[in-house]
Amino acid sequence: MLQIYNTLSRQKEYFKPLHEGHVGMYVCGPTVYGDAHLGHARPAITFDLLYRYLMHLGYKVRYVRNITDVGHLEHDADEGEDKIAKKARLEQLEPMEVVQYFTNRYHRDMALLNVLPPSIEPHASGHIIEQIAFVQKIMDKGYAYVSNGSVYMDVEKYAKDYPYGKLSGRNLEDIVTETRELDGQQEKKHSFDFALWKKAAPEHIMHWPSPWSEGFPGWHMECSAMGTKYLGEQFDIHGGGMDLMFPHHEAEIAQSCAALGKESVRYWMHNNMITIAGKKMGKSYNNFITLEQFFAGNHELLEQPFSPMTIRFFILQAHYRSTVDFSNDALVAAEKGLARLTEAYQRLMKIKASAASSVEIGNLRERCQEAMDDDLNSPIVISHLFDSARAINTVFDGKGTISEADLKELREVWKTYAMDILGLQLDGAQDAGAGMDAYKGAVDMLLNMRLEAKRNKDWGTSDKIRNALTELGFTIKDTKDGFEWSL
Ligand code: ZN
Repeated sequence: MLQIYNTLSRQKEYFKPLHEGHVGMYVCGPTVYGDAHLGHARPAITFDLLYRYLMHLGYKVRYVRNITDVGHLEHDADEGEDKIAKKARLEQLEPMEVVQYFTNRYHRDMALLNVLPPSIEPHASGHIIEQIAFVQKIMDKGYAYVSNGSVYMDVEKYAKDYPYGKLSGRNLEDIVTETRELDGQQEKKHSFDFALWKKAAPEHIMHWPSPWSEGFPGWHMECSAMGTKYLGEQFDIHGGGMDLMFPHHEAEIAQSCAALGKESVRYWMHNNMITIAGKKMGKSYNNFITLEQFFAGNHELLEQPFSPMTIRFFILQAHYRSTVDFSNDALVAAEKGLARLTEAYQRLMKIKASAASSVEIGNLRERCQEAMDDDLNSPIVISHLFDSARAINTVFDGKGTISEADLKELREVWKTYAMDILGLQLDGAQDAGAGMDAYKGAVDMLLNMRLEAKRNKDWGTSDKIRNALTELGFTIKDTKDGFEWSL
């Protein structure tokens, strides 16, 4: 039986859904104002693993993962410019152009990582009415106040009736010292109050009418409103990165309790964070390596490109509640491990059965299930697969035999656990990724030939290459160091 670690109770619990056979699951998705990086890959892969495993167990899963496209301010508190609006202003685009552009790119990256799309992907900007209604419910219950057109959660009042901070293990005094006084907080009663609705400043380009002001919802509101809209006032699982535990998820709990008089979420699950060469990801370290940069290998911290499957495998090699540190060496090791697994899988498909088995296949299926049931212990599943790779290689090398029944079982378990549940494309589908590298290499080679032709003043050849590539749909830009291209 599946056990998962519930952040709320700080222990593993047997998973029992509210409605038999059905699971409602909500995961906080990206704020789409930039390309996805490793910090986006980990929750996406973690909850993809859970989604896949729940479906394997026979549940009908409604998986909701939102797109944040309004209300997420720069400083995560209630101050600063809206992240999307700022990008739109800097790029002179319509905010929804920014949203669409980065949503498309996010989908592309997730598809490369073999992350299944969620059942519903609601946008915050498409649920303003639901969010206003949710704020109104909190107002009606007396846990919010209006100040200068903005609506704030009255955390002190709320904390008298409900335990505030229980998810992240904080108390109000801790929170007071954390939420230092920022500009504009004078309209709040207390620094720990958070915005449910913000009145838009005149320069703010994304705003909607509401009973309180022309404005926009507070960042935490969208997940309460959309989670309960699509999954019901109470639902099974809410996931996200550990960094969202406070204030985001803590605020979500407060919003639900205040509006609905009960907690919406039964199991809170959080994946741990990713560090890069031992450092937190941050602007000051210049270590925000986007997924696209990983796939292409074009970031100064990367010694080579890494395929999407290598990234996926690397993340799954650690338990989701452990930290993961990315380094070139660790990724090279993951690449080798994945290659060994792929080789074993492909050999497994080729070997022939004999009358009896001389190799031991053990109870691989039970051991894999046991590991997954133990709070999604993917590294243990992977180690079981490596164990069985030894038996496969023995048979492949002609040093052992395998029976028809054992071979069938082994093929089924590998297909189920490695491919369907871990989502590793061991059947050559990831060669499409390797194909990408080859194709990029070929375009680079052609453009280098063109560069050489230009240096030799061979304008004929230079133009021929450029025209041929342009005709195929490439955009080529000459730069002072050489060239840039895109398709
Ligand atoms: Zn959220």
